Amino acid sequence: MPVSEKISAIMEKSSWIRRMFEEGAALKAQLGAENVFDFTLGNPSMSPPPAVERGLIKLAAESSPGIHSYMPNAGLPHVREKIAERLKAVTGLSFTLNHLIMTVGAAGGLNVAIKSLCDPGDEIIITAPYFPEYLFYADNHQAVCRVVETDDSFNLDLDKIEKAISTKTRMVLLNSPNNPTGAVYPEGTLNELGEILSRKSAEYGRPIYLLMDEPYKKLTYGQIKAPDIFKCYSHLIVVTSHSKDLNLPGERIGYLAISPNIDDAALLLGAMTFANRILGFVNAPALFQRLVADLQAERVDMSVYEQNRKTLLDGLTKIGYEVKPPGGGFYLFPKTPAPDDIEFISKLKSENILVVPGAGFGRSGHFRIAFCCDNQTCVNALPGFKKVYERFR
Ligand code: PLP
Repeated sequence: MPVSEKISAIMEKSSWIRRMFEEGAALKAQLGAENVFDFTLGNPSMSPPPAVERGLIKLAAESSPGIHSYMPNAGLPHVREKIAERLKAVTGLSFTLNHLIMTVGAAGGLNVAIKSLCDPGDEIIITAPYFPEYLFYADNHQAVCRVVETDDSFNLDLDKIEKAISTKTRMVLLNSPNNPTGAVYPEGTLNELGEILSRKSAEYGRPIYLLMDEPYKKLTYGQIKAPDIFKCYSHLIVVTSHSKDLNLPGERIGYLAISPNIDDAALLLGAMTFANRILGFVNAPALFQRLVADLQAERVDMSVYEQNRKTLLDGLTKIGYEVKPPGGGFYLFPKTPAPDDIEFISKLKSENILVVPGAGFGRSGHFRIAFCCDNQTCVNALPGFKKVYERFR
């Protein structure tokens, strides 16, 4: 075999999201993009906020020596300082640049955190439905994901999480607002989780970390806000990026924030800085570090997502689909009208509608719609959603 057996086996199981996205690209080449309703990838079609373009123009005009040089592997000190100042203002905690590591997106940050914290065989508790790449990131570092189901409303089931914790548990990895469900975990639940993790850490004599994956934190609807997670637990590491809140997924820029409440923060910073280097990232992209330093208070225009959310929620509910309103993010995770989600999505494909089956997120009988597209795509897809729903009735 020309490639390793391991990579060949995991490619076989690899993400439905990418598979459907690639099928979509082929269909668009055949039928024309305007005739395909592609809801597969969380790849925002809108432009970044105007402040991004202004910032880039300003940066391009600067030509001081060393602006393209290598730097400390944790990232540019003045950028980390600016982000620390903002986190300090928002959380009231004593953040400094030594709590921040600039990363190659959230994906890079997750790999850095797992590499730094997990020994081979250590367990990472994740909740289903989950972002499927977590399974591969854990495996990259010989850690093992232990999957715990959320309830029917996609809320955390704290009893199940507590029961899943063992001497092998190194961390709980949560994502809120959640991809694919849109759930935003309330402060009360996160506080209770914090209490469980403190108790279990004391019982087993080593800290169980909470790794909080928050790239959608600024994308919430109505009165819903993602709580300040730093209040809820001390052994906390937050990973985020500007892929979704500034529409910059291709630029690969994000960061890891270590809670100042962790006594060994300096040790963690050292390990994560080293991991950033040896995983081959070396450092996050220099230009985009400088750019985002001044854009921490910005976010994308939510009006398109609000409109798409309404169009699809109203339209799908009227047809008969069972769908929970997402509190944040830009995904819907409706139930399929029949249990076999793979068959259902293949029927949608025959209407040129591309979505991802729930099986890809560890929960069959559902499908994911990524609505980070233009509103017309949502409107025009509804007749196809109706036709397929009626075939299954
Ligand atoms: N975590 C979640 C829950 C995501 O949905 C994504 C991307 O879709 C990522 C992490 C990775 O984001 P990034 O592009 O910043 O690497």
